[in-house]
Amino acid sequence: MEVNNVELVMSAVAPEQYPTTGYPEIAFVGRSNVGKSSLTNVLINRRSYARTSSQPGKTQTLNFYNVEDQLYFVDVPGYGYAKVSQAERERWGQMIETYLTQREQLRGVIQLVDARHEPTKDDIQMFQWLAYYDLPTLVVATKADKIPRSKWNKVESTMRKGLGMTPDNPLLLFSAPQKMGKDAIWDWIETQAFG
Ligand code: GDP
Repeated sequence: MEVNNVELVMSAVAPEQYPTTGYPEIAFVGRSNVGKSSLTNVLINRRSYARTSSQPGKTQTLNFYNVEDQLYFVDVPGYGYAKVSQAERERWGQMIETYLTQREQLRGVIQLVDARHEPTKDDIQMFQWLAYYDLPTLVVATKADKIPRSKWNKVESTMRKGLGMTPDNPLLLFSAPQKMGKDAIWDWIETQAFG
């Protein structure tokens, strides 16, 4: 999709705040700092797009971005902060569980993992949880430019094994500075969103 227009339409913590337009939705999940805003910026051809803070202690909301009046990108706040309280963790868990399990318009989830590291416990838990709920999931391993090409296969197999992926679960390598993987990610999004 050639994207010119993207607008943050809603920051929501509860279902009554979700947009009612009915466009298909693609959610983005991942550890904070994994490269989520960099990936979305590449997808929508922007240097930087309005991001509400993903800093610990700040309000954690689901952010709905209207993409060309055709779909929503839903930015799910990053998991894996060491510092958040148990209560905050639970509130976050509730909010995303409600969204991911109850949202009819949700067509797919892009889970970002850092290509340089083994998946974290949070990554594994998230992937397994998405699989349990049968949510179509694309795993995107970010920052591939930091890894020599000769090791890409190894990265993919480590990630697949670590997350417990099956051979038919899709995984793509991505690099924001090189825009590597952009078209393949868009293909997946359009297939999920529009069939
Ligand atoms: P977010 O917290 O998940 O939204 O992560 P950001 O998109 O803000 O990225 C976190 C840091 O990783 C920033 O310093 C980015 O410049 C860097 N980064 C993100 N994606 C890539 C990538 O594909 N390659 C490289 N080399 N750095 C990246």
